[in-house]
Amino acid sequence: MFAVGHMAIAYLLGKGSSKKLHVNLNIPLLLVLSILPDIDIIYDFLTGAEIHRGPTHSIVVAALAFIPIFIIYRKKAIPYFLALISHPLIGDFFIGGKLQLFWPISNQQFGLHELGSYYISITSPVNIALELSLFAAATLVLYKSGDWKVFFKADKTNLVLIIPIATVLLPSTIGYPFSAPLLLTEPLLAFAHLFYLVLFAIAVLKTLDYIYKERFRKSAKSQPTNLNLA
Ligand SMILES: [Zn+2]
Repeated sequence: MFAVGHMAIAYLLGKGSSKKLHVNLNIPLLLVLSILPDIDIIYDFLTGAEIHRGPTHSIVVAALAFIPIFIIYRKKAIPYFLALISHPLIGDFFIGGKLQLFWPISNQQFGLHELGSYYISITSPVNIALELSLFAAATLVLYKSGDWKVFFKADKTNLVLIIPIATVLLPSTIGYPFSAPLLLTEPLLAFAHLFYLVLFAIAVLKTLDYIYKERFRKSAKSQPTNLNLA
C-alpha cells in the first residue's frame, strides 16, 4: 500500500482507539509510525539490498520495540502500536503481501495471496480506489475534528514529519521506487500524496521558524547584559 493509505488507516484507527481509551493523541507521531516500516525502501536504495517487506514489516520486531514504550506509557502507547502494526497487518497484508511477518522466528512470507486468496497489486485499480476512499475518509475526520490545526502550530515533535517527507512522500511522488512518477501514472493518488506533503512541510517549516526565532530572542536578551558588564 502507498503512504496515503497507510496514514489514513492509522489515523482512523488511532482516532477510534484514543477515544475509547480516553487518551490524547499526537497526530504527527502517529502518522510517522504508520509509514516507518517502509524506511526499508531507502535502505534498499542506499545499499542495493532487497529487504523490502522484511524485518521492518515484522510484528515480532514491532512488539519487541514497543516493550519499553508500553512499560513507560502503558495504555497511552496502544494507538501508536496499532498505527505501526496496521502497516503490515492491514495495508500491506491485503495489498501486495510477501511480508516476513514473523521475522526472525520465521522467514516465511505472508499476505492475502499467500493464504490462497486474490493477489491485489499496489497499482491495481482496486487498490487505487481503496486508497483514495481511505484518504477521503481520513481527510474528512481530520477536518471535522479540527486535528488539521496541529500542522499549523510550532511544536518540536512536528519535526518527525521530516521522515515521511524524505522517505515515502517525496520519492514516490517523483518516481522512486516505481518505474514512473506517480504524478504521471496516478494523478489523483499523487494529489493525495502532495496534500500530505504540503501539510507536513508547513508543520516542519513553522516549527523550524519558531526554533530559529527563539534562539534569536535569547541571544538578543543576553546582549544588553553583556553591554552592561562592559
Ligand atoms: Zn510497507
